Amino acid sequence: MNKFPLSHSGLLELAKKYPTPFYVYDEKGIRDNMRYFTKAFSIFPEFREYFAVKALPNPYILKILENEGCGGDCSSLPELMLCEKAGITGHRIMFTSNDTPAEEFRYAEKLGAIINLDDITHIDFLKDALGGRMPDTICFRYNPGPLKKGGNAIIGKPEEAKYGLTHDQMIESYKICKSLGVKHFGLHTMVASNELNPDFFVDTAKIVFDLVLEVQEKCGVNIEFVDLGGGVGIPYKPGQKKIDLDYVAEKIHALYKEKIIPAGLDPMAVCFECGRPITGPYGWLVTKAIHQKHIYREYIGCDASMADLMRPGMYGAYHEITVSGKEDLPKDHVYDVTGSLCENCDKFAVQRELPKIDEGDLLIIHDAGAHGRAMGFNYNGKLRAGELLLRTDGSVVQIRRAETIDDYFATLDFSGLSSFKA
Ligand SMILES: *Cc1c(COP(=O)(O)O)cnc(C)c1O
Repeated sequence: MNKFPLSHSGLLELAKKYPTPFYVYDEKGIRDNMRYFTKAFSIFPEFREYFAVKALPNPYILKILENEGCGGDCSSLPELMLCEKAGITGHRIMFTSNDTPAEEFRYAEKLGAIINLDDITHIDFLKDALGGRMPDTICFRYNPGPLKKGGNAIIGKPEEAKYGLTHDQMIESYKICKSLGVKHFGLHTMVASNELNPDFFVDTAKIVFDLVLEVQEKCGVNIEFVDLGGGVGIPYKPGQKKIDLDYVAEKIHALYKEKIIPAGLDPMAVCFECGRPITGPYGWLVTKAIHQKHIYREYIGCDASMADLMRPGMYGAYHEITVSGKEDLPKDHVYDVTGSLCENCDKFAVQRELPKIDEGDLLIIHDAGAHGRAMGFNYNGKLRAGELLLRTDGSVVQIRRAETIDDYFATLDFSGLSSFKA
């Protein structure tokens, strides 16, 4: 857990200007974190990180990451457009989509994005969408399925996942694309989510490198980049350990020296499309305690809800909570910290030891900088929180306003209601 970057008095001032709830992101933290990532992987001839736009789809954040050398990983038309707005275009976009409409392939191609195909049938689909052409560069997403050796136990059950191509389809697909005149090739896989075991990523790289060699041998295709996906976890819970990226990079580099260099494939770029570990620890949801009730348990009711941050409610995810100004007080109370949805799972914390909370206290929900507001929704007529950015000079700017009732009603046309006969 990272310390919230504003003082208690600083936060009180901010909450006067921007009513709670709101998200705060720390520019310096995000930049430093990205530099750590880049430095760890600088042992490769070429390293690229495509930030997973879905984790924090805000163009101001994307512009900061672009400035740090990041690209963008997209899977929909609006995500492609966000990258475009933030100045991320061409091969700095990885389009890792699935079940993709033709229109989205066309837009990705127009931006010059690298298209990462999710199925063998998407070769013809893409070609048709582009009027009979293929792009110069193509990547395929590999689903290793029930692997006989290596990572199976660790990788979980890719054979139950909807993503990617089977081993035999991968080989076939590179052959087809070569015959269609595609010139440059990549190979992608993503088989983890929020994984904290560094060796997991080393095992994944081994599986990918072995397939790169097989593709070279069986298809006569030299893979120019591998994309190891996202899935790098962050320590949400106290006691969990951050992944040592230097260790991961060194171990993967050893495999690179053992397998890729002797095959004459050097330089081959090593890419990731991480979202969570880049911005996750540098975003906080700030919410005010507006109620407390004492029934069979002690409850603190907040002005934010699961509509702002659904991870705890949806899959019981743990997020650390601190109470602004009470960081050093003993945690001698046990609370369920709730939102206002008519769903009992709308709890930010269950039976959590916290200092005594009073109405008006500001609660800081940590590690909410990825898959936080992005996953929000409007169920129960809830309006999603806005987003603030703490700049490196200490100033705070609003990078997305909070939703209003007009936003909520924007898709309704009430004008027909008076003449509408029920
Ligand atoms: C979600 C996703 C990512 C990012 O995952 P993180 O856990 O945020 O790093 C990357 N690539 C693909 C294809 C994804 O679906």
